[in-house]
Amino acid sequence: MLDRLDQQPPDALLALIKLYDADPRPTKIDLGVGVYRTSDGATPVFGAIKAAEQRLVSEQPSKAYLGPEGDMGFVKALIPHVFGEAGDMGGRIDGMQTPGGTGGVRIAAGLAKKAGVAKVLMGTPSWPNHAQIFADLAMTVEGFDHRAEDGSANMDALRTALQNAGKGDAVLLHGCCHNPTGIDYTPAQWDEIVDLLVEREILPIVDLAYQGLGDGMEEDAYGLRKVVASVPEALIAYSCDKNFGLYRDRVGAFYALGKTADDTVRIMSNGCALARANWSMPPDHGAAAVGLILNDKAHTKQWLDELDSMRARIGEVRSQLAAAGKAGSVDLTPLGEQKGMFAMLPLDKDQIGALRTDHGVYMAGSGRINVAGLTSGNIGNFVKALEAVAG
Ligand code: PMP
Repeated sequence: MLDRLDQQPPDALLALIKLYDADPRPTKIDLGVGVYRTSDGATPVFGAIKAAEQRLVSEQPSKAYLGPEGDMGFVKALIPHVFGEAGDMGGRIDGMQTPGGTGGVRIAAGLAKKAGVAKVLMGTPSWPNHAQIFADLAMTVEGFDHRAEDGSANMDALRTALQNAGKGDAVLLHGCCHNPTGIDYTPAQWDEIVDLLVEREILPIVDLAYQGLGDGMEEDAYGLRKVVASVPEALIAYSCDKNFGLYRDRVGAFYALGKTADDTVRIMSNGCALARANWSMPPDHGAAAVGLILNDKAHTKQWLDELDSMRARIGEVRSQLAAAGKAGSVDLTPLGEQKGMFAMLPLDKDQIGALRTDHGVYMAGSGRINVAGLTSGNIGNFVKALEAVAG
C-alpha cells in the first residue's frame, strides 16, 4: 500500500543549508534561509522573550490542556497591535492561536473552502507554501503577476485579476514585507485594492507574517486595517515567528472578520473544528511568552525596541545595496524601496550556481535573497560576485 507513494523532492532551502555548512571558505555568505540575522550573522533569542520565558518557568501554574483556540490571552493581547484602534470591531473580529502563521493560513484556506470559495487569486511568485496549502485542499488557484518591470507592484495585473473575479472568489494578499519579492503595496494602492474588493465582492485572505520588519508596527498594518475597515468579511493569518524571533516555537494566530458579531462566533466555531481535526490544539510555550510580553508595559517596550533595531538593520542593508546601483546586469536600486527581509534578483540557474561554487554566495534557486544575511563587512564582496556572474 504505502509503496504506492511517490518520492517527494527534498526542501530545497534545507538542502542549501547543508551545502553552506560544508563549505570551508571563510568568506561564504548565506542568503538562503528566511531568518533574521544580526551583523554577526546570529539569530539570537529576543531579550524580551528570554525575560518572559524566565517568568513562565517560575510563574506558570499548569500545563494542562487548553482548547483548540489555544491561549486566548495571547490572541486578545495581539489585537490592538494588529488591528489598531478599531480593536475587535464590536465583536466582528475574533481569533484563535495557531501553530505559526502557517497554521493561520491553513485555517483561513480551510474555512474558505468550507464556505464554498470557488477560486483563490494569488500574486506570483508567493511564499511556496501558499500554493501547497491550497493544492492540498484541492482548491483552484489563479495566479497573476505580482511584479512590475521596475520592481514595484504590478497593479495592472492585480486590477485585471480582481475585475475579472467572480463574486465569492477569494484573493490572497501579503499584509507587508512580501515574501519572496519585498514588493509591498503603497497606502494609495491598498486604498484602490480595497475599493475593488468591495465592488467585486471578493473575500480577502490577508497573510501578515512580518509586521514591524518593514516600516513599523503601525505602518505595516495599514493594508490589513484598511481591508477590515471596509469589507464585510475577511480571513487573516498572523505570524509572531519573525517579529518575536520565535521561528521553531511556532507562534501564530488566525483572525476572522464577520459581517456581524454573531457571524463571527459561527465562523470561529468552524475554525476550532478545523484546528481540532488538524492539530487538536496549538503548542503553548511561545504564545504564552508573547502573551506575557504584550500584557506587561516594560516587556512590550523591550520587545518593540529590539524589533526597531532589527528593522533599522534591514533598512541599512537595503540602503547600501540600493546605493551600489547596478551590479553587472542586476539593478539593485529597487531594493531600497522594497520592504522586509527578502528580494528577488533576476538571475538564472547558471548564475545562481556560479555564485555558489565560484563565490560562496548561497541563495534560493528562485533568486530570492535574505538581505539580513548581508553586513557592511560582506556587501562589497557580494556586489563584486554579482558583477562577476551577471557582467
Ligand atoms: N506567510 C508568509 C508570507 C511567510 O513568509 C511565512 C514564513 N516563511 C509564513 C506565512 C509562515 O510563518 P510561520 O513560520 O509562522 O509558520
